[in-house]
Amino acid sequence: MTIATDLYVGFTGSPLDRVEPARHDPQALAALAANPAALLLDMPDYLPPTEGGALAWKPFTPLPVEETLLLGLIDGIPRFARIDPEAAAARRWAELMTLLDSLDRGEAGIYAAARSLLDWHARHRFCANCGTKTAPHHAGWARLCPVCGTEHYPRTDPVVIMLAQYQDRVLVGRQPSFAPGRYSALAGFVEVGESIEEAVARELREEAGVVATAVRYVASQPWPFPSQLMVACIAEVADDTVTLDMAELEDAKWVDRAQVEAALRGDADAVFGAPPRYAIANTLFNAWLAGK
Ligand SMILES: [Zn+2]
Repeated sequence: MTIATDLYVGFTGSPLDRVEPARHDPQALAALAANPAALLLDMPDYLPPTEGGALAWKPFTPLPVEETLLLGLIDGIPRFARIDPEAAAARRWAELMTLLDSLDRGEAGIYAAARSLLDWHARHRFCANCGTKTAPHHAGWARLCPVCGTEHYPRTDPVVIMLAQYQDRVLVGRQPSFAPGRYSALAGFVEVGESIEEAVARELREEAGVVATAVRYVASQPWPFPSQLMVACIAEVADDTVTLDMAELEDAKWVDRAQVEAALRGDADAVFGAPPRYAIANTLFNAWLAGK
């Protein structure tokens, strides 16, 4: 199932049919695992195995139940990954970004689901209620505590990412960790007890001292590092006076349409470097230029 949008949003458009009922049906799960056509997404270091812009799958042989993650079906063929609770996410960020650049967004969407789940299993091995070691449950989409019976589910953490707009310019900022010249939209986690619009207004006020007067939603994307849901918005602000929170940003500046277009084209003399295409900040710039 694909939700149509005329925007390019990284990590969306996955062709996975998640066949949720099979997660709760041991016989159905066993039948899928025994299908000789079943395939495995093998990524012991959490990097996507790729081949020509697509994910590279291996033949699947049935695994112990506690290692079996049923991703779903693609073209009617069962797709699995292997849960390794001892695994740790590789820190090879530069290598990962190159791989993501090469992946079709739908393929990256499959990877996003698999990576977030495998990483969650490795980081959530014990019951948050009683401290007992838990085991994978529901074909890898949950964990079950054998002592207190609590079911634990992978969480998704919402993050707002937004362009502040004043007249015909938008505000871009850079964190010290960014690549040289790179600027992006501002962003921050939605806090407990907050709406998306309130989180956008608070983050803009905290990080840049600008006051949002209207917030509109643009698009969202899963961001599997480790499990965020990026919620992209554009916020009108009351004026263009910026007061930076230097703990969050080392610089911020207003850019106009021509400057954003030059950055997205990758012009050598662009006043900033744009985020990569798979990042929803890139989508936000394009949406703003298109008047979304
Ligand atoms: Zn427990």
